[in-house]
Amino acid sequence: MPRLLAAMTCLALLPAVALAQAPFTQADIATAARLRDAALADNGAYDIVASLTTEVGPRLAGSAGDKRAVAWAQRMLIELGLSNVRLQPVMVPHWERGRIEARVTAPFPQTLVATALGGSIGTDEAGIEAEVVRFDNIAELRAAAKEQVAGRIVYLGQRTERSNTSAGYLGTVYNRVSGPSIAASLDARALVIRSVGTSNDRIAHTGALSYDNNAPRIPAAALSNPDADLLERMLATGKPVRLFLKMGARELPYEQSANLIAEVPGTDLEDEVVLIGAHLDSWDLGTGAIDDGTGVAIAAETAALIARSGAKTRRTIRVVLFASEEYVVAGGAAYARLPEDEIGRHVVALEADAGADHVLALDSRVPEGKRGVVESIAGVLAPLRIELGKNESYGGADISGLMAGGVPALSLRQDWTNYLDAHHSPNDNLDKVDRVRLNQVVAAYVATVYLAAQAEGGFGRIDPPERTKPTTSGTRQ
Ligand SMILES: [Zn+2]
Repeated sequence: MPRLLAAMTCLALLPAVALAQAPFTQADIATAARLRDAALADNGAYDIVASLTTEVGPRLAGSAGDKRAVAWAQRMLIELGLSNVRLQPVMVPHWERGRIEARVTAPFPQTLVATALGGSIGTDEAGIEAEVVRFDNIAELRAAAKEQVAGRIVYLGQRTERSNTSAGYLGTVYNRVSGPSIAASLDARALVIRSVGTSNDRIAHTGALSYDNNAPRIPAAALSNPDADLLERMLATGKPVRLFLKMGARELPYEQSANLIAEVPGTDLEDEVVLIGAHLDSWDLGTGAIDDGTGVAIAAETAALIARSGAKTRRTIRVVLFASEEYVVAGGAAYARLPEDEIGRHVVALEADAGADHVLALDSRVPEGKRGVVESIAGVLAPLRIELGKNESYGGADISGLMAGGVPALSLRQDWTNYLDAHHSPNDNLDKVDRVRLNQVVAAYVATVYLAAQAEGGFGRIDPPERTKPTTSGTRQ
C-alpha cells in the first residue's frame, strides 16, 4: 500500500507542478480566445486605415503630411480610449522627390516611367545623358572593371521574385540600398534599377538608398517593371542604348516630428511593458495604406480592443507609432535611446510592418528556455490557421534598437505574396486592404499581446540579433 500511496501522491502532485510552471492560467487562455474571436468580427482596424489614408494620405518624414499625421494619430489614440497618450519629439530628415524625366534617346527614343530612390540627390538643370551598361545585381556590378562603368549610367536588372516570405525582397533590396555607391565608386554617372516590386503595372517603386561616405553621390532611380523590360529589349539588340535622366530630388533641413505613445495600463506588473510598434510615416507616391497604415491600425486597434474588453492585463501594453522609418529609422533610433532603465522595462516587442495580408506563423526571438511560452501562445492562434514559426525573427526596423538592447521579439509573420505589388508605389492605397484578412491579423495580435502581457516569468533577455534590415539607419546623422 505504501507504494500505491506514493504513486497516488505523485499523481496528485504532477498537475500542481505542471501548473506552477505554466506561463498562463486557464482564465488567461480563455480571455485570449475571447479577444481573438471578438477581433474577427471587428472592423476597427480597417476604419483606422481608411481614416488615415483619407484624412492625411502621403506622409513622408518631414513633410506637411507628416505633421498632419502626428496630429491625426494623437487624436485617434485618444478617441480609441487609450491612456497616457504622448509625443516623443524626434528630428527627422526631410527629403523631397521632385520631378523626374527619364527617356531613352537612342536607339529608339521613348519616355520611361521612373521614380527617384529615397534620399537620392538630383541632377543639375541640364540632366545627364549617357550610355547604359547593364548588370544583373550588385554582385556583378562589384566584379566589373572601372572602364566598363566609368562615364555611363548603370542599370541593374534583377527581378524581385514573388514569395510568401520576405525572401524576394531581401534578394533585390540591396541593389537599391547599396547599388548607387557601388556604381559611383566605379565612376558611373547615375544608377537606375528595375523596381524592387512584383507588379507589372507601369508604376515605379521607391525606397531608401544608402550613400556610402567613401564614394561620390550620384543620382539613382527605379524603373517600372514594364519599362525595365522595354529597356532590356533595346539592350538585347546590341546597339548602344543611351538614357537621359533629369531629377529634381533634394535634401531640405531636418524637421521636427514625433513618436506617438499610448498605453493600456497594467495591474500588478504595470511597470513592465509589452510594446506593439508600427511606423506612422510613409513614402509620398501612394497614400501609405499597406505601408504602414495597416500597421498603425493593427497596433492601435489591438490595444483598443483589450482596453474596451475590460480584461485587465498584468503588464502595460504600449503602442508606439514611430516617426521616419522609411528613410533613416529616426523614430526607432530615438526610442532606443530612452534611458536604460526605461528600456529595461520592455518585456517583449512586436512590430507590424508587413501589409494587410493574413498571418501565417508566429515567429519569435526569445531565449530557448522561453520557447514554451511562444508555443502556448501559438496554440491559441491555431484556429486562425497560424503555425508556430521559427525563433530567428529579426523583429523589424523600428524595434531593432530595442532588440540590440536585449529585448525579445514576437513576430506575426504575414503573407508577402502580394505585398510587393503595391509596396512603396503609387498603388499603395486603401483598395489593397481586405477587411476579413485584416481582422485575422488583428485577432492574432490581440491574443498574442494579451498573453504576452500575462505570461508568468516574462520572456527573459536575448543576445542582439546579427541580421538587421537593410535600412539607411545611422548613415546620415
Ligand atoms: Zn514599412
